[in-house]
Amino acid sequence: MEKKHIVVAGSGFAGLESAFLLRHYFKDKIKITIISNEENFLFRPNTIYIPFGLEPEELQIPLKEVLPKYNIEFIIDKVQDVDPESALLLTDNHKISYDYLILGTGAAMRPEEIPGLKEYANTIWTPKEMLQLRRIFTKNHSKS
Ligand SMILES: Cc1cc2nc3c(=O)[nH]c(=O)nc-3n(C[C@H](O)[C@H](O)[C@H](O)COP(=O)(O)OP(=O)(O)OC[C@H]3O[C@@H](n4cnc5c(N)ncnc54)[C@H](O)[C@@H]3O)c2cc1C
Repeated sequence: MEKKHIVVAGSGFAGLESAFLLRHYFKDKIKITIISNEENFLFRPNTIYIPFGLEPEELQIPLKEVLPKYNIEFIIDKVQDVDPESALLLTDNHKISYDYLILGTGAAMRPEEIPGLKEYANTIWTPKEMLQLRRIFTKNHSKS
């Protein structure tokens, strides 16, 4: 019998935990593929240290080295859509058929949706935003 194909979109905590747990429970009875637009796993909780000097690269774990050890296929590509009728995940470069699909593509900041937030505040979701905070701290510190 052909193995069921589990496709996981996203390689953050949600996507990786799902893939690792499924591999643990089902061993080699299933095929698992992760599709992510990022090559590395970002350990997001420690991004709080970026404004104080930690370099974002230090929080990146290369998934190409880790996932093959768990027999998980890894495709770097951007998910655009899902066609549930045909059970296809549509990415920039692929149409990937699945038996079960896990969407773990995370959240994003939308500061423009709260009046004043974009103009007067900083958000902290991405390393880029944390680096922006570092620049502000450094600028203010050098003034005092
Ligand atoms: C500063 C900070 C500190 C935090 N500290 C803690 C903490 O101490 N404890 C805690 O429990 N939580 C903490 N969190 C929250 C925690 O980091 C998030 O809840 C968690 O990262 C969410 O994981 P996720 O996998 O759902 O999403 P994400 O980590 O956002 O992962 C989404 C994944 O999907 C991929 N992706 C997105 N869009 C696409 C697309 N179109 N195509 C392909 N791939 C895509 C991304 O590349 C990424 O791999 C913190 C968050 C922040 C910002």
